[in-house]
Amino acid sequence: MRLDDYDKSKPFDATVMSTVRITPDEADAEIREIVLEINRHDFDYKPGQSIGVLVPGPHEFGHEHHFRLYTVADTHSRSIEGRPWITIAVRRCAYIDEFSGERYKGIASNFLCDRKAGDHIEITGPYGYAFEVPQDKNANLILIGAGTGIAPFRAFVKHIYQDVGNWRGKVRLFYGAHTGLELVYMNEHRDDFTQYYDEDTFQAFKALSPRPHWADPIAWDYCLEKRSEEIVELLGNPATYVYVAGLEATRDQLDEVFGDFMGSSERWQRRKAELVAGGRWTELLY
Ligand SMILES: Cc1cc2nc3c(=O)[nH]c(=O)nc-3n(C[C@H](O)[C@H](O)[C@H](O)COP(=O)(O)OP(=O)(O)OC[C@H]3O[C@@H](n4cnc5c(N)ncnc54)[C@H](O)[C@@H]3O)c2cc1C
Repeated sequence: MRLDDYDKSKPFDATVMSTVRITPDEADAEIREIVLEINRHDFDYKPGQSIGVLVPGPHEFGHEHHFRLYTVADTHSRSIEGRPWITIAVRRCAYIDEFSGERYKGIASNFLCDRKAGDHIEITGPYGYAFEVPQDKNANLILIGAGTGIAPFRAFVKHIYQDVGNWRGKVRLFYGAHTGLELVYMNEHRDDFTQYYDEDTFQAFKALSPRPHWADPIAWDYCLEKRSEEIVELLGNPATYVYVAGLEATRDQLDEVFGDFMGSSERWQRRKAELVAGGRWTELLY
């Protein structure tokens, strides 16, 4: 779906409650965790859904608003007055213009990262495919997230173990980033997943770039290959569901790795098509 196609006709107000940089100062990437209080009591969402943020203009080409999506990174909580609180993890973006070589700031991500507690913003939504939790608690879940793609899984895993409870299927979380410093929510200072390591069913693995300061892709191959036997077995099991979130580039990288696992890319594409058709492969890529 194109950004123009999202319904933005009923925006509502949200207040920034807190904003914290969650990548260390020495990391190249600045990712901030921003908590918003939604000034609408009936706002509801499911893990994996995103909100829209409307950045007020003036903007180029006469656009009234600059509109971008951000995935909700936590499960439900509310203020004492009962207003919904949501958490988003925003990476401050910049890009280099190919012609001029000039560096431009991404509009929405910089707008959000520059907000202070108490500021008001306009949001819309929620939108998008929610990551549906399978009915069967014996279902196996393979979760693959890159960069800020960890956000929906933070909410999803918490939902599975705390709200749904008594999960018996295997949960395997693969988290990729360019450097260890960019592994938000799963680093030596703060690991929001530690509380699940005691669960017999939960295991998490990190995939990093081999040479972090080069433009090398995340080493999914190395990380997944070490567990290829279990992954292939799980993929062959009709009770396994795969969820992928984060950077678009992840799709091609995973196709290559899974193609190797399956012995050929054709075989993998056939298997993937079956998984997609059966509702067992869900992507949230951007
Ligand atoms: C479903 C969904 C969920 C998302 N969830 C998150 C999330 O949880 N966290 C998060 O940080 N992001 C998320 N994103 C990405 C986010 O919506 C924005 O795309 C991102 O923050 C950049 O937006 P921006 O307005 O800051 O940058 P923009 O102003 O749109 O520009 C920055 C980007 O646009 C491109 N670009 C624009 N113009 C040019 C040009 N002239 N030359 C070269 N490149 C150009 C470049 O790729 C550049 O990186 C999500 C996206 C989707 C679709």
